[in-house]
Formats: sequence, structure tokens, C-alpha cells
Amino acid sequence: MTNENAKMLKIVLFTGYACSNRCVFCIGADKRGLRGRTTKELLASVYAAKKKGADILEIIGGEATIRPDFTALVRAAKDIGIREVVCATNGRVFSDISMAGAIVGAGINELIFSIHGPSAAVHDKMTASPGSFAELKKGLVNLKKLGFRRISGNTTVVKGNMRSLPAIARLYVRLGIRNVEYIFVDPNYGGARNDFDELVPRISAAAPHMRAALRIGLAAGFDQWKVRYVPLCHFKGYEAQISEMNERVNFLTEHWAPDFKNTDAIGSRSAVGRRRTAACKGCARLHVCEGIWVEYLKHYGDGELRPIGLED
Ligand code: SF4
Repeated sequence: MTNENAKMLKIVLFTGYACSNRCVFCIGADKRGLRGRTTKELLASVYAAKKKGADILEIIGGEATIRPDFTALVRAAKDIGIREVVCATNGRVFSDISMAGAIVGAGINELIFSIHGPSAAVHDKMTASPGSFAELKKGLVNLKKLGFRRISGNTTVVKGNMRSLPAIARLYVRLGIRNVEYIFVDPNYGGARNDFDELVPRISAAAPHMRAALRIGLAAGFDQWKVRYVPLCHFKGYEAQISEMNERVNFLTEHWAPDFKNTDAIGSRSAVGRRRTAACKGCARLHVCEGIWVEYLKHYGDGELRPIGLED
């Protein structure tokens, strides 16, 4: 897929910002009190997504699975023929096997579990929700019992869990999760913006742990693990595992949320949310790299960005 027309259309449908966790870094931390969308509004969006030709519909929150209408939304999307219906989840609902069975039965194609620590001690601290790790793990067991296999993972990388990334990677290996994203925290909005000093690591401190996690995946034969929102100069040799590079080539992504609509989420992130700076002058990756978060630069500056030479 190399031309604009061959890209897949992915529509990310935000149901609202209510959630059963309280993740400290959550991008929607300041929005949890906003009114969620009604079932009627969401069904209209599901039909609009189909009409627009969505190949993938990602339903997210907050935590979309806690909505009583979640299975109905999934079923509606599948009934009208949307090829891939995906949900990013904190996984807690799946600890109830009847709920897990209902969601699988509705036709969900893929679940992306957010795992922010290798243990309850770390994960529950990140989610600020005691018991969240135990429920997530029970949810994974239940999905296995149900024979549901398309489970991916994502981990937001902050100061409080970056040293645990190799242990998280080993957990993903044990769970057999072949698609994982390690996401460098976005401090432009929400919890990480509000509490930057406590949460946001320097990229030079986080990157070695992120690279170590990727290597653990590669050693286990999982070459689809990726890192997201990172400057490429800290991931030389890992170019095939940068989410944005693959995403820009393969996807057009729209975000449909209760409080905004962005019909070019990938383009606006690189144009507005992230920056390359004067420090990048002459870098061989300048045309493909998105640099680093604007809010990061305000706090830490650009001293860690190192132009990549043509020979690298
Ligand atoms: S120097 Fe700048 S353009 Fe080059 S890889 Fe680093 S952040 Fe990206």
C-alpha cells in the first residue's frame, strides 16, 4: 500500500470519557465529567462510519466496555459489514465471563489491552485503581477460555513504569501477545500535562528501557512490537518498529469524539502536537520523523535530539 487511495480508513469513535480506572497520565483526565454520547448518537456514528467506507472502527472511551450499550454498538457495526471492529480497553469488564462472552459474541474482532505494569504493585499505581491488574488478568484468562485470540497490548511509558518495561515485555511474551505498542506518554493534554514533573521522563532515560522491551520481543520471535511517539534518533536500528512510520503509509485515521472531530489525526499530530527543532538540522530522518511533543520541549528543551547522519 503505497498510494493515498490504497490506505485503509480507520475511524476512532470515542464513546465518552467515563472510565473505571483513573490512570495518572490519562489524556482524558480533565474530561471524565463530560457527558458521554447517547446510544442513538453512537449508532448514527457507526452508520456514518460505514457510509464513509471505514475499514476499521475502533471504539474507545474513556472505557467503552463499561457502557450498557457496548455490545449493541459492536453488533451493529458487524451487522452492517464493517470489516474490523476493535476496542482499546483496560480489560476489567472481561473479568466477568458472561460480559466477556457477550462482547465476543457480538463479533468484536480485536481487543487491545492496556497493561501499564508487570504486577499489581506497578499497574494499579499507574491506574490509581486497586484491583485493576487482578481483573485485567482474570479478563485475559476468561478470553482464553472463550477461545478469543486477537488480543494486542499497549503500555504508556512514564517515569513510574519505565524501569519495569523489560518485565512488562516478559509478561507479554508469557501471554503470547504478538502486537504490542510501547507509547511514550503524551504531555500535551490531561494527566501528564497537569503533573508533568512527576510523570514525564526524559526520552534519553526512557528510550533504553523501550529498546530493551523491543529486544525481548524480537528474541521471542515477536517482530510486530512497536514504539510510538518517539524521536527516531533514540531508536536507530529499530526503524521497522516505529508505529508512526507504518501508520502514515497504511492508514488514514479520523477521530470522532463527543467534543471534537479530527479528520486527519495523523497529519495534525505531526503538524501541531509534535515538533522537530533547529537541533534537527541536517538530520537524515527529518522527512519521516515527527520529533517530540510540543509540551515536552517547553519543559526539557531539545538538547537530547541528535541529527542522524546519512551513513547511519
Ligand atoms: S534529530 Fe530531530 S528529525 Fe532527527 S531523528 Fe531526532 S528528532 Fe527526529
